[in-house]
Amino acid sequence: MSKWQGMESKYFMHTVDRVPVTLVKGEGARVWDDEGRQYLDFVAGWAVNSLGHCHQVVAQALAEQARTLIQVSNQFYTIPQLQLAEILVQHSCLDKVFISNSGAEANEGAVKLARRYGKQRRNGAYEVISANGSFHGRTLSMVAASGQAKHQQPYLPLSPGFINVEYNSIDAIKSATTDKTCAVILEPLQGEGGVNIPDDDYLKKVRGWCDEKGILLILDEIQTGIGRLGTLFAYEQYAVEPDVMTLAKGVGSGVPIGAFMVKDSANVFVPGEHGSTFGGNPLVCAAAYATLKYIIENGIADNAKKVGEYFKGRLEELRGKYSFITDVRGRGLLLAIEFDREIAADLLKACLGNGLLVNRVKPDALRFMPPLIIGNGEVDEAIGILGKVLAAV
Ligand SMILES: *Cc1c(COP(=O)(O)O)cnc(C)c1O
Repeated sequence: MSKWQGMESKYFMHTVDRVPVTLVKGEGARVWDDEGRQYLDFVAGWAVNSLGHCHQVVAQALAEQARTLIQVSNQFYTIPQLQLAEILVQHSCLDKVFISNSGAEANEGAVKLARRYGKQRRNGAYEVISANGSFHGRTLSMVAASGQAKHQQPYLPLSPGFINVEYNSIDAIKSATTDKTCAVILEPLQGEGGVNIPDDDYLKKVRGWCDEKGILLILDEIQTGIGRLGTLFAYEQYAVEPDVMTLAKGVGSGVPIGAFMVKDSANVFVPGEHGSTFGGNPLVCAAAYATLKYIIENGIADNAKKVGEYFKGRLEELRGKYSFITDVRGRGLLLAIEFDREIAADLLKACLGNGLLVNRVKPDALRFMPPLIIGNGEVDEAIGILGKVLAAV
């Protein structure tokens, strides 16, 4: 055990089983540990480092803003948050933005907005329908929204007002809808739940149902947004528009930030109804604005699409070679491979030993979510390591 691992077990709450590596430096798609070993990073801070590690435009925006103005509270106008709001609105179908510090907080805000909407427009409706296998965050209300027993069981009783139904079933949503329902919240593709992809027409049907019933469709694009699936937002690929969209992970290329966005038709908050001390502060907003501007101006979402297709093709080649690979799935640069046995933890360790960081999304599946700036060369390198590791199974 290294000195740092010893310090962790002595001082830090043990809420996660860490990979036994202490990372001290990153650049592009690479990170280095405290012993100088280099790794190709296909985890990217859990789909966060959209422009890779310490990208120059992000580092520069942070450094300049840190010398200029870091935090003043939302009692005052500050410029970076307005620039960020403008670029988000100009490049999405939503009209207004609220900036938070994390994904869970963005979803909390979205659900508060939906309840406010239900109060005003649907006779006090407050229930939110979400999907089994979903992940919406770790706050008490978001564990109730996240339809996974492992996240809910330790914290019973759950916050009321959330109904978990089968994913990818419009009928399940229809039968759970009552006159108390104010919204449906869904991930366009379930990330943490295992990279689960719904049928192409699922979201369209949900959209139609929400319109028919006058309830809000909240898309949780915290993992799928900001280019990850090959378009700036995933909803573009499913030809639907949400009433509310939540964002976080990739927005700031590494700085802690979240956001929820709303169409004018559902923009029901009035002053005093929602807020945040740190949310939207100039420091993180400068980094997020620089990230988004770079992503948009340099076609980074399209790069994720192209490189993602190449990566998927190369994973399919591996599947052709090894019969214990039962599935290759995902879109853009959010991909997973599944096995017929629970070998993901061992494979993760073997990849690590060969200089590749991957994520074990389920006991029998690995997830890949590299920075969006990678090229086919990095994919070939990762495939080379994976191939070597799989050959030893
Ligand atoms: C990561 C994630 C969240 C939670 O974000 P935090 O920043 O960890 O609170 C919520 N929803 C989805 C889809 C996510 O992937």
